[in-house]
Amino acid sequence: MRAGYVAIIGLPNVGKSTLLNRLLKVKLSIVSRKPQTTRRQIIGILTEGDAQAVFVDTPGVIVPKYEVHSLMMKAIRQALAGADIVLWLADVDTAASGDELVKKLLPHGTRLFAINKIDRAADKNALLPKIEHYQRMGFDEVFLVSALRGDGLDELKRAILARLPEGTFFFPEDQLTEHPERFFVGELIREQIFNAYGEEIPYASFVTVEEFKEREMGKYYIRAIVYVEKDSQKGIIIGRDGAALKRLGTKARKAIEVFLEHEVFLDLWVKVKQNWRRRRDLLGQIDAGNV
Ligand code: GDP
Ligand code: MG
Repeated sequence: MRAGYVAIIGLPNVGKSTLLNRLLKVKLSIVSRKPQTTRRQIIGILTEGDAQAVFVDTPGVIVPKYEVHSLMMKAIRQALAGADIVLWLADVDTAASGDELVKKLLPHGTRLFAINKIDRAADKNALLPKIEHYQRMGFDEVFLVSALRGDGLDELKRAILARLPEGTFFFPEDQLTEHPERFFVGELIREQIFNAYGEEIPYASFVTVEEFKEREMGKYYIRAIVYVEKDSQKGIIIGRDGAALKRLGTKARKAIEVFLEHEVFLDLWVKVKQNWRRRRDLLGQIDAGNV
């Protein structure tokens, strides 16, 4: 089995969200003509056969003209450090404008470069020097794609899956392909945990959505579990007479209702599970990009 993280990096508007949606065949990430419409870092999971790629879209981490805020820079470096594969994406018309940034942030590990929007290029032969250019810059492979039309994406996907490191899956096989909303519901609950508590609890917790179904009266019934590592953490989340958990549940429910545009009954539980380290590393990676 192979599994790993793939960070999609690039200037705003080059088509990162479009590519992610297209690779996953599901709309996860907001696509817009305006740069930086994606508010949070999105992960999408692609499981095919014995390989699982966890994609991280990195919205707004790179601003044009290299006026890169140090915090953003830190976040993007962290995202890069946590990635097994870095996929740099550029717009065929403006590729060169990202070169300085590529040099600054050229990651270690597997580096792929994709030139997007080739549907706009009248003369495909003119793209050959660009391919050579990025190969010389140190990328392992360079692809020509159109995220919008799907050109070149099978080849890109095959290369990504083949280059993932050996390891067990991070997520259940069916997650995100069938129930993308489950992941976001978990993220919205986790976000509330981050808002409510200091350092320790958020990093020691992980949320799973166990059940998600529509009830007769039209409300969604969602049962979720917040896993923590210690009894003491469980006590803090639940609070006196369950008051803290109730507050957390209400805030999370409201956020979920806004996201799903639907009424929700949220059944929220807290359980202790030791050795969530692997998961905790995962949380760290996700949060690193939330700028
Ligand atoms: P992001 O900011 O990098 O996430 O870029 P988006 O995915 O939001 O896309 C920005 C704009 O580029 C949108 O209007 C997309 O429809 C457009 N776009 C993305 N991929 C392609 C492509 O392959 N060809 C063309 N012509 N437009 C594309
Ligand atoms: Mg985007």
